[in-house]
Amino acid sequence: MSEETKFSVLCSLFNWMQRSKTSTLKRSKFRKFLDTFCKSADYFDSIRLILPSLDRERGSYGLKESVLATCLIDALGMARDSEDALRLINWRKGGAKTGVNAGNFSLVAAEVLQRRQGVSSGGLTIKELNDLLDRLASSENRAEKTSVLSILIKKTNAQEMKWIVMIILKDLKLGTSEKSIFHEFHPDAEDLFNVTCDLKLVCEKLRDRNQRHKRQDIEVGKAVRPQLAMRVGDATFAWKKLHGKEVVVECKFDGDRIQIHKNGTEIHYFSRNFLDHPEYGHAMSDIVIQNVPADRCILDGEMLVWDTSSNRFAEFGSNQEIAKAARDGLDSDRQLCYVAFDILYGGDTSVIHQSLKERHELLQKVVKPLKGRLEILVPNGGLNTHRSEGEPCWSLIARSVDDVERFFKETIENRDEGIVLKDLGSKWEPSDRSGKWLKLKPDYIRAGSDLDVLIIGGYYGSGRRGGEVAQFLVGLAERPVPNTYPRRVGTGLSDEDLEAVATKLKPYFRKYEYPKKAPPSFYQVTNNSKERPDVWVESPEKSIILSITSDIRTIRSEVFSAPYSLRFPRIDRVRYDKPWHECLDVESFIELVHSSNGT
Ligand code: ATP
Repeated sequence: MSEETKFSVLCSLFNWMQRSKTSTLKRSKFRKFLDTFCKSADYFDSIRLILPSLDRERGSYGLKESVLATCLIDALGMARDSEDALRLINWRKGGAKTGVNAGNFSLVAAEVLQRRQGVSSGGLTIKELNDLLDRLASSENRAEKTSVLSILIKKTNAQEMKWIVMIILKDLKLGTSEKSIFHEFHPDAEDLFNVTCDLKLVCEKLRDRNQRHKRQDIEVGKAVRPQLAMRVGDATFAWKKLHGKEVVVECKFDGDRIQIHKNGTEIHYFSRNFLDHPEYGHAMSDIVIQNVPADRCILDGEMLVWDTSSNRFAEFGSNQEIAKAARDGLDSDRQLCYVAFDILYGGDTSVIHQSLKERHELLQKVVKPLKGRLEILVPNGGLNTHRSEGEPCWSLIARSVDDVERFFKETIENRDEGIVLKDLGSKWEPSDRSGKWLKLKPDYIRAGSDLDVLIIGGYYGSGRRGGEVAQFLVGLAERPVPNTYPRRVGTGLSDEDLEAVATKLKPYFRKYEYPKKAPPSFYQVTNNSKERPDVWVESPEKSIILSITSDIRTIRSEVFSAPYSLRFPRIDRVRYDKPWHECLDVESFIELVHSSNGT
């Protein structure tokens, strides 16, 4: 019999762990596996299967559920239109038989596999499985992936194959955290992993549980697990949580969290999941080399896209496209821009133990900002120094909860994602989400249907939108007679869309100057008369519907006559296709608010 650890043993562990109710029991099963069934030489080979999402030795499989479904169908030799094949393809929906398993791909797959595979184990070893998974990751097309899957199917039973599917999808649903696995493996495993992101190294260095490992600091060239932010519900809570601390509030940029590791001319771009992204190099490396003179340094920040024509950051989602355009030398108004909000290594040493305030100072010394390409985010310098007049700043020292509220409101109105509050006295801690950084963002309604509202008035903008309508007052219909319950919305539309809507409505905008301040009679606007738009749309038939979304926590309206008003409403799109009378009515809106739990 082979000396090597069998995969079937690991599957028994998975089954035990899944069945055990408490975390202590799960951990003790894992300990027993390590002590009794797994040779220490096989630790890495086993643990990379238990924590597949942390394994960086193997490339990605390129197999999300839908592709995996077709590869499995072919590997099992099933007809694509057979009942089971459709079950796999439509795994989200489930069918009469899948019912309970709907939405869980591996359980649907297990059901299908059970009808086709035997119950006796094929005797696959952990080492063999890892070799086959390597082949699966390196195979270039579906046919090759399918042939690896069919080898796996031949060498396993349905139970084992179900676990392999979960390993491929990188989620074992064992009901235990990676923290517990690390702690049970070795008391220093988590710390070492956090500063190296190297599972192999952890498993090899820490084989002996009784031998403690000296705390290791971060190194240039090895990804560090990023410090994270704790989500908070509102500014008051955030302010209380940071009571007595010196607090900086920053815009929460919506891009890619990237750590830049510079070692001479060698530069790495590590993402949040500690994957290296060399594709950013074409656009960024020369800039980093020229503007970060330090030989060795690690910056923490967000990779974004800067639009040179509108002089603002572009909405999230185009990073990869812009990186490719830069690689291919294509001309574009858009360019990658890295915003460094922290520094982890500089002056030839790790600086994560210094306070954020000290790190901000160092950041200013180490990085020479280049507008729209390489920026730094510090309260009184960097990005803040070249904002246009009248625009909110990107970061500031908050002295009161009102400062935080105001900054949050301005940030959302500027179409940014939210804010991050940071304790300026805190050190940078890998993987920490304990509350030194707090994030505050609106929680948008995920309504089944659109919130389609009708424009009934407009407000003039300021700054570059001065003199033109830049925000709208929108309303809901009242059944059965059209009428309106209004709310002001402005954010969410691109400049072009906003201009197009304002131009279309311009002929119908009516100013209602003193003494004729009342709105047109078909608009039922406010309980008191504080909120007045600058112009009204002269009648609803002339107007346009907007699809909007808003913070889930709607607020009881005191200003407007609808029972609720929307917080941070944001325009999704303009509905030129919808006639005005198809806008949402008050009753449906209230139902929506209730079903979103936002009373
Ligand atoms: P989300 O999905 O809300 O972005 P997340 O789970 O990816 O959250 P969190 O740790 O909760 O990550 O939030 C911090 C993230 O916010 C960082 O990973 C980073 O990508 C982003 N971010 C944007 N601006 C900042 C900033 N000024 N300071 C810190 N993080 C920022």
